[in-house]
Amino acid sequence: MCPYCEAVLSNPGAAQCDSCLRPLPQKGGTPVLRIQFPTGELKVSVGQHLVLGRDAGQSPVAATFTQYDNVSRRHSTLWLDPSGTAWVRDEGSTNGTFVNGERLPRGVEAPIRDGDQLRLAADVTGTVQLS
Ligand SMILES: [Zn+2]
Repeated sequence: MCPYCEAVLSNPGAAQCDSCLRPLPQKGGTPVLRIQFPTGELKVSVGQHLVLGRDAGQSPVAATFTQYDNVSRRHSTLWLDPSGTAWVRDEGSTNGTFVNGERLPRGVEAPIRDGDQLRLAADVTGTVQLS
């Protein structure tokens, strides 16, 4: 099944989904999610939930965001599931989490793909690298 549109795949080994044409996770190799922010690179492994935010008590990567006053103390969460699909969820941040310019409703799990632009609040933009 396609992890994006949930279409049943006629060829499970296909490189892309026949229905939504998105690239499909490939077997072999452990997927890793990286987000390249101006202040540093974040790395997320399968099974890890990484909280992004400005509060070191809530987020292990708070140092990446301390200079940005408009990032919430607990802003959003990133994770990677075993199929290689990466996700982001806004944790009720004040100034929003955006994927390619679109604000996510709080609490909604949104898939992110290689090359997407992830933005926290007005000006913290990172590029998604999924491999
Ligand atoms: Zn699909």
